[in-house]
Amino acid sequence: MVREETEFVNWEAVIGLEVHIELSTKSKMFCGCSTDYFTAKPNTHTCPVCLGLPGAMPKANKLAIKYTQLIGLALNCKTRTGSKFDRKNYFYPDLAKGFQISQYDLPFSENGHMFITTNGRTKKIGITRAHLEEDTGKLIHTKLNGTRLTLVDFNRSGVPLIEIVTEPDISSSLEAKTYARNLQQVVRYLKVSDADMEKGSMRIEPNVSLRKVTKGQESMVKELPPYKVELKNINSFKFAEKAIEYEIKRQRKILESGKMPKQETRGWNETKQETVSQRSKEEAHDYRYFPEPDLPPFAFEEKYFKSISEEIPELPDEKRKRFTKDYSLAENDARTLTEGVELAKFFEEAAGAYKKDPKIVANWITGEVLRRLNEENKTISDSPLLPASLAELLFLIDKGEITKANGKEILANMIKTGDDPRATVIKLKVTGISDIKLEEIVIQTISRNPKAIEDYKKGKEASLMFLIGQVQRITKGQAKPEKVREFVLRKLSEAD
Ligand SMILES: [Zn+2]
Repeated sequence: MVREETEFVNWEAVIGLEVHIELSTKSKMFCGCSTDYFTAKPNTHTCPVCLGLPGAMPKANKLAIKYTQLIGLALNCKTRTGSKFDRKNYFYPDLAKGFQISQYDLPFSENGHMFITTNGRTKKIGITRAHLEEDTGKLIHTKLNGTRLTLVDFNRSGVPLIEIVTEPDISSSLEAKTYARNLQQVVRYLKVSDADMEKGSMRIEPNVSLRKVTKGQESMVKELPPYKVELKNINSFKFAEKAIEYEIKRQRKILESGKMPKQETRGWNETKQETVSQRSKEEAHDYRYFPEPDLPPFAFEEKYFKSISEEIPELPDEKRKRFTKDYSLAENDARTLTEGVELAKFFEEAAGAYKKDPKIVANWITGEVLRRLNEENKTISDSPLLPASLAELLFLIDKGEITKANGKEILANMIKTGDDPRATVIKLKVTGISDIKLEEIVIQTISRNPKAIEDYKKGKEASLMFLIGQVQRITKGQAKPEKVREFVLRKLSEAD
């Protein structure tokens, strides 16, 4: 008997993520320049410190350090009582000083973890470290009178930047995307950054390699592959997912041909839908790190960490669990409603005002409200809609004053204007049918159809449907079908 050895062999992706997030402090990391540079004219937010002029002395931004520690605590990291900044030396035109102030061996936070859930499976992703550094300037490649040139804008130079590094615990593009999205959520819940990938305030750099494993032994092998490919310049979750997918396929092909993929940095080319080599990397960079001589080391007390940890709000995971438990929401609805703090708050206020059934409120928000907001490319914070108004709208539907279909139309208007539902009903001239009016119509219908009533009493179910249909026709569909049925049945039993 012969068998193919390959039957038992599989390739497992080994992925680690480096995520850079700009912190939303008002001033830069080591000087008083404003960090609000996004639409500013180039080189207008600079000073001798962030331009790296000789003799300029840095002063560390206390709030940025606190933000880094808060992120560390939220990611279950150990926060160091003793820490310091180091100089990372390298030359690049966007780095004015010729070195970057970063952290080498004593990061503010390390050894944490985050749980992610993909396809119903929960996995622990190790966080190696979260350290603080300064952002670099920006290079702009352009053309002037036919000559290609590169301009540099130092507005971004010195903006506080946190780097969060994971262990190589991620094994698919979906897991990578889920981790990055969760991280973005946590940072937004903490209100320490807008973590906007389009604006570049959150940047993802996955490193990808493959290891050979026996089928069924996935995730049990801990040995790392002898190479790794870093993916750079990715500015959306979707691109990150695609770039990782592409890399896994590309590397597998090379490995299966008996070769070893090159250790290198590659970028994602969206037009070509492929990763392209940017530069080959030597084994390890020699950044000649040494302690930053212009900034004294830090010593924090445990009671300081205790006091700042009290500032950590309920985080997405806890909130989601609470929503499924306290409001009996489905996991998916709870996930959608806790995506942002504002939406979660809106739901809780609306559910508190409506009281009757939080699931109905959840359905309206995850369905109609989000659909309308998406159409206008808005979030709940951009809309003047009040939670109490949504609850009031649901009451009107319950009372039969408007139909569900009309309710949707009214809601769409309320999302735009912020008007309360009653005012909107009058404005849009959508009237439902009051209970008294409906009762009147039902009585009339019954008195006009003695034959149908006789048939119904003989057990003809179709006669009941006929009567309901008659009422619906007269009300032009403005009464709730269940209500019509209920009224007709009641009047029929009274007619006995
Ligand atoms: Zn400055």
